[in-house]
Amino acid sequence: MKTLMLFLFLMADTSPIPTTTVYICSGAKGKKYHLRADCRGLSHCSHRVVKMKLSDAEKEGRTLCGFEK
Ligand SMILES: [Zn+2]
Repeated sequence: MKTLMLFLFLMADTSPIPTTTVYICSGAKGKKYHLRADCRGLSHCSHRVVKMKLSDAEKEGRTLCGFEK
């Protein structure tokens, strides 16, 4: 029975991760992304706020903004 439980756990673990959308300040020098469009880190953005995939943001070397950690 224990083996079956482990098997089910592993099966669940391999399920595709849903795409997470994050928000970035386009044109800014900042290397941050935001989980919420109304984050106060984004309120200082003088450029356009754009949506992108979390994986793409990380590819650009962006990290989660300090207010949302
Ligand atoms: Zn933020």
